[in-house]
Amino acid sequence: MRQLAPKYSAWSLLRARVAGDGYWRPLWTGAQLRDAYDVVVVGAGGHGLATAYHLARDHGVKRVAVLEKRLLGYGNVGRNTTIVRSNYLLPQNHYFYEDSLRRWETLSRDLNYNVMYSPRGVIDLAHSDGDMVALARRGNAMRVAGIDAELLDPRRLARFAPELEPYRARRFPVVGALLQRRGGTVRHDAVAWGYARAATALGVDIIEDCEVIGVRTAAGFATGVETSRGYVQAEQIVFAVAGHSGAIGTLLGVQMPIETHLLQAMVTEPVKPLIGSVLIYVYPHGEVYLTQSDRGGVVMGGYLDGFPSYTREGQWFRLQDVVQSAVALLPQLASLRILRQWAGTNDMSMDGSFIIDRIRYDNVFINGGWCYGGFKAIPASGAACATFVATGTAPDLIRQHTLARFRSGHLLDERGAGPFPARQ
Ligand SMILES: Cc1cc2nc3c(=O)[nH]c(=O)nc-3n(C[C@H](O)[C@H](O)[C@H](O)COP(=O)(O)OP(=O)(O)OC[C@H]3O[C@@H](n4cnc5c(N)ncnc54)[C@H](O)[C@@H]3O)c2cc1C
Repeated sequence: MRQLAPKYSAWSLLRARVAGDGYWRPLWTGAQLRDAYDVVVVGAGGHGLATAYHLARDHGVKRVAVLEKRLLGYGNVGRNTTIVRSNYLLPQNHYFYEDSLRRWETLSRDLNYNVMYSPRGVIDLAHSDGDMVALARRGNAMRVAGIDAELLDPRRLARFAPELEPYRARRFPVVGALLQRRGGTVRHDAVAWGYARAATALGVDIIEDCEVIGVRTAAGFATGVETSRGYVQAEQIVFAVAGHSGAIGTLLGVQMPIETHLLQAMVTEPVKPLIGSVLIYVYPHGEVYLTQSDRGGVVMGGYLDGFPSYTREGQWFRLQDVVQSAVALLPQLASLRILRQWAGTNDMSMDGSFIIDRIRYDNVFINGGWCYGGFKAIPASGAACATFVATGTAPDLIRQHTLARFRSGHLLDERGAGPFPARQ
């Protein structure tokens, strides 16, 4: 997945393309793997790239490498449904995700790369009075924290999202919603490309096709990583491997409170603008969340497939569930064809919240447990993780997202406490 950086106008690009005169510059190619680094970041997904970028930009760390076993953006950063929001219930989570949402708002400018942040509004739908109470609780918690949240009755919902026709007779009627207007979508692969280009410009080496297969240690410290290309010495190591976080635990001899599960998504053929926001529909028989891409395809996802797996092959039954739920919500989708379906491996932590912490050794860090919500976290995670690694102290926003909480019982149980147990 190599992207090329245009320099001038569309015309000059076309001319250059035809003439093949070298206008097109690679965004991140060219780095040679060196023998030693100050920090080795493992995994060129969103979290790894953002961490490397912030290490170089905010803390002046000179020798940083991102080692990726496949291709940059091959993992979940390029497979997700691109939804960003900060509508979490627990303060430990909503302050962090709000920090991230604020960073999304300015990221295109910061990276000088258009990541296409689109604050189209995220709508959680309610189907009973009980749902409304739970949404009001979550919305109030957000407002107390200074985060935008609005409770909508069907009349206001109909005005904001007319395609929903809230008054339409349904088996599970829509009785209201929680709206976060600043929530929306961001183009996922542009995020990987933008961070990669910015990090490369700051001197970070991005090395693809380089799998980390072991950690070498001496006197209780990690001294470097064994890779498929040989040994690389490192002062500090950060694992940001998402769906492979559990495997990294095994490699380090630490049992992780994580299971890897499949989540799939799908997109329909393109149609004219129909869905103006992000719709989240959780009802007793299923779940679907929907957006419409800029190309016009309706992008959908739902529950996990329900069993641990690394296959990236979504099961047919889940695709059916998601489509049924989508049509139950918006019958006008019934005649659309599904063009593509794909899946990714999610590192599901046992309490539904993420982990950024030291693991086993003082100079080894894990950035994982992102479950199915880690895309939206990338800007805040990169900044916070970099600060932790560079200063040795976890910033307040992530201080409680430790591994130790699973031993002490101080869980950040967003799933248990949230209105809809299946999603966080
Ligand atoms: C279908 C789907 C929909 C989703 N929708 C959303 C959404 O709408 N909003 C949201 O916030 N989140 C969503 N998510 C979750 C989100 O995509 C992930 O939580 C997030 O992308 C994970 O972080 P990452 O980008 O760093 O991971 P990845 O992109 O997976 O990066 C990890 C990288 O590590 C590499 N790696 C692994 N092991 C090694 C090794 N040993 N050596 C070297 N490299 C290694 C992998 O190849 C990979 O490139 C979704 C996920 C899926 C699958």
